[in-house]
Amino acid sequence: MPVDDDVTGDQGRFADPGWTTAELLSGTVLIECPTCRSRAQVVARRPANKGFGPRRLSCGECAYVADHDGNEWIVYEDGRDPWFGLPLWYRKQIALGVLWAYNEDHLEALRDYVLADLRERQKSESSGWANQSIFSRLPSWMKKAQNRKRIAAALDDMRHR
Ligand SMILES: [Zn+2]
Repeated sequence: MPVDDDVTGDQGRFADPGWTTAELLSGTVLIECPTCRSRAQVVARRPANKGFGPRRLSCGECAYVADHDGNEWIVYEDGRDPWFGLPLWYRKQIALGVLWAYNEDHLEALRDYVLADLRERQKSESSGWANQSIFSRLPSWMKKAQNRKRIAAALDDMRHR
């Protein structure tokens, strides 16, 4: 079936990929280095199990390194990494609230979500899996059509950081 979907992802359909926070956290999380403020990363030291497991923060700029046992993580609604609580690289305060993303893929997906006219929820085959989706849990101001342009513009700014 043809999907009315343009290359930029603008104004189209958004099919919720059903990402959970745990899945998102299995990848790289970009933060602001606590010592030099450059872009640093937090990665799993071995394949992460449901988002758990040891993490290493490393900065390519100043060589700062820190470890976390990864036995627990917290979703900070003000845009900090789940282990060290440091500001995410992609974080921006706007009048409506704080926009934040763990990495580029997350940022892109948020932009697609915000710009989509039609948002399709993933059908839940087994458990209440679909409700675990990060997109089903976004704050209501991110879902409102009247905020769409302002949020998309801010996400674009963040992308060019
Ligand atoms: Zn650094």
